[in-house]
Amino acid sequence: MNDITLRDCQQTVDEWVRTVGVRYYSELTNTAVLMEEVGEVARLMARLYGDQSFKKADEAVNLADEMADVLFVLICLANQTGVDLTAAFHQNMAKKTTRDKERHANNPKLK
Ligand SMILES: [Mg+2]
Repeated sequence: MNDITLRDCQQTVDEWVRTVGVRYYSELTNTAVLMEEVGEVARLMARLYGDQSFKKADEAVNLADEMADVLFVLICLANQTGVDLTAAFHQNMAKKTTRDKERHANNPKLK
């Protein structure tokens, strides 16, 4: 499988939405859909790593696919709101690195 950049992902999603998907759902609808998809990941995590048991209907569910659903909707929202995820990711990592330079190293719970 080929590597793909965040910029490629944003473009691929945009092309898909404008052809197969016809148009973007509204930003508010996609925000609700994002919460739904995050909930599906949480449901699966509770069963895979938590104490919940699987029902028959849960057995075909796949964690990677559910995470990709979250990513897809997040990318839709980025496209709709003019967010460049590549720039945002770089800025966010730089912020975390500066802000948390010693925070985690000094956290005794992480030792
Ligand atoms: Mg899903």
